[in-house]
Amino acid sequence: MSLVGALDPRFSKRIQQVFGLEAAPLTLDDLTFAISDKVAVGDIEVANLFAGSPTRHEVDFQGEVKHTHCALDALMLPFLTGRDITLRSECPHCGDVVAVKGTRSGFRPSRPKAVLSLGVALEGTGQAQREACPYINLFPSPRHYREWAAVTGGALTIMLSLKEAHRLLRGPGCC
Ligand SMILES: [Zn+2]
Repeated sequence: MSLVGALDPRFSKRIQQVFGLEAAPLTLDDLTFAISDKVAVGDIEVANLFAGSPTRHEVDFQGEVKHTHCALDALMLPFLTGRDITLRSECPHCGDVVAVKGTRSGFRPSRPKAVLSLGVALEGTGQAQREACPYINLFPSPRHYREWAAVTGGALTIMLSLKEAHRLLRGPGCC
């Protein structure tokens, strides 16, 4: 499966700025390479993914309950640590909880139509946790994403299936 399709140029530029990427990712495939590069060179520290206080994203990380700043940070854990996780994330639209069992080989959601948003604030020079994390969420279905996105100002967002999200984090390799 390949993630095709060009990203909105404003989205690309902001992702580059906020995540400190060398080049603006023009497509989701570009973003896949950029993320797997960061993982490969150890640019992403596991400790930095956990929040000091509860968030909408609760992770069961081998029996330990932790919270992450966004849904993607939790889903990254299997790739960074080799450990499976279960993420319970509240939909920012209605508060319903979506659970995802995450392993290196796939993401299994409790809701078959669950989707992930990727997003970034239109402006701002803060850390990714502030500029991007509020816009990186799990939703029970595309409808919840669309209704949330329609009333979420000041940000650019896109929607990914969990298959696409898995591929984004797993990287561009085969299988
Ligand atoms: Zn919802």
